[in-house]
Amino acid sequence: MELEVNMSNSKTKKIFFISECLLNQNIRAYGVGNMKGSGSVADIVDLLKINDIGFSVVPCPEIPYEGLKRFACGKSHYNNEKYRAICSDLAGQFIERYKLYIDDNYKIGGFICVNGSPSCACDYCYDGEDGHTKCMEPGVFVEEIQKKLKKENLSLNFIGVRIKELDSVLEKIKNSISKL
Ligand code: SF4
Repeated sequence: MELEVNMSNSKTKKIFFISECLLNQNIRAYGVGNMKGSGSVADIVDLLKINDIGFSVVPCPEIPYEGLKRFACGKSHYNNEKYRAICSDLAGQFIERYKLYIDDNYKIGGFICVNGSPSCACDYCYDGEDGHTKCMEPGVFVEEIQKKLKKENLSLNFIGVRIKELDSVLEKIKNSISKL
C-alpha cells in the first residue's frame, strides 16, 4: 500500500531550540529549586505555543556526566576534559540538527537556554568555592556549541533565561518571534 505524503502543510516550520530543563524542571540538580511552577516553565511554553512555534529540545548535558542524582556546582566543577568531550559530542549533534532545519527552510528563533547554569548559560554563570560568584561567561556546553557554530560559520541567537528577569526574557523571545 502506498502512503500518501502531504508536502503542502500546516507546518509553520518555526522553531526555537530550548534547554531540556525548561520543559522538565524535575531534572535540575539537587539543591537548585524550580525556576517557576513545576513541570515546565509555563510562561515560555505558552508564549511559543500561542505563536505556533515548535520546540527542539536540547538534552541536558549534565545527566550523561553525573546522572540525575547530582548536586549544584559552579563552572570549575564541569570545566574538565571528560565533561567537555560529552558537551562537544552533544554540541555536534545540535549543529547537525541545526543544519537540517536550515536545509529544510525552517525559521529558527534561537536557543532559549539557562543563564546562571555552569553548562547552559549564555551570558553569565556561577563559580568560585561557594559556587555563588557570578562570572560573565557562558557555561561549558554553550561554549562547546559556540565553538562549533564558529567552525561552521553559523550564527545563532542565544536567549538566556533567569527567572528574576522573566519579563525581559519574554520580551526577547517575542522580539525574536516577530522576526521569523
Ligand atoms: S545542564 Fe542545562 S539542561 Fe541540564 S539542568 Fe542545567 S541548565 Fe538545565
